[in-house]
Amino acid sequence: LRKHLLNTKRLEAVEQMGASISHEIRNPLTAATGFVQLLQSENISMESRSQYLSIIKKELKSAERVIQDYLTFSKTEDFLTETIYVHDEIKQAIQSLQLTAKKKSIEIITHFSNDLAIIGDKQKFHQCLINIIKNGMEAMPKGGTLTIETETTSSMVSILIKDTGIGMTPEQLNRLGEPYYSTKGKKGTGLGLMVVYSIIRSMNGTVHVDSELNSGTTFKFTFPSIPDHLEQIEILENENKYVLS
Ligand code: ADP
Ligand code: MG
Repeated sequence: LRKHLLNTKRLEAVEQMGASISHEIRNPLTAATGFVQLLQSENISMESRSQYLSIIKKELKSAERVIQDYLTFSKTEDFLTETIYVHDEIKQAIQSLQLTAKKKSIEIITHFSNDLAIIGDKQKFHQCLINIIKNGMEAMPKGGTLTIETETTSSMVSILIKDTGIGMTPEQLNRLGEPYYSTKGKKGTGLGLMVVYSIIRSMNGTVHVDSELNSGTTFKFTFPSIPDHLEQIEILENENKYVLS
């Protein structure tokens, strides 16, 4: 069960976006640099100084958001195919966002079924969880509850991430996953879900979204669990498409 293998599956459409993504990072950095230069000139009022500093901070944050939503994902071209223990990954993701949740008066609850493993790239799966949990938290500006549940059958593992937030209209639901689609204005990148969908697809998983306006949203991922996958590994073995480690 702990066989590790590398495959050469690539997400070309997303990789082609690399160029446009670097714009999304470069633009705010260029703007920030411009204001740093202004700050370096000598006679500047205290008022302008603090105004420039807050613009710089905003621009840097904007670049950081793009990096957070996208870059971990694109760091390696190849997808590792390793054993992922779903509950460990969920616990880790929660841990890294726990502080933000506290600040926003959001309680994170988990309901775990039997632990089951799936196959995929751990780092990219982590990015998925982070992007979805962050969206859930951002949908609850007044606080609320984020529930993460797992369900297992003999061959499938499902992960449900539910928030009690603002929800979405059917029109909004339809546009999910579209590059740069965001309702968060300057605070959004519109890259988070596109990245999530690509990763889930590469792991042979599916995504279902249920949402009700002013009530909340549930993202449900379903993956084949490991026993099912072992057969596929055997097939790949014959086709010599991977490297065993
Ligand atoms: P971003 O978060 O930067 O806006 P995403 O790709 O992560 O970009 O999400 C795209 C859009 O999908 C969001 O702007 C929001 O309108 C909608 N969305 C995603 N998750 C949720 C959620 N849990 N509740 C309500 N709307 C959501
Ligand atoms: Mg997001």
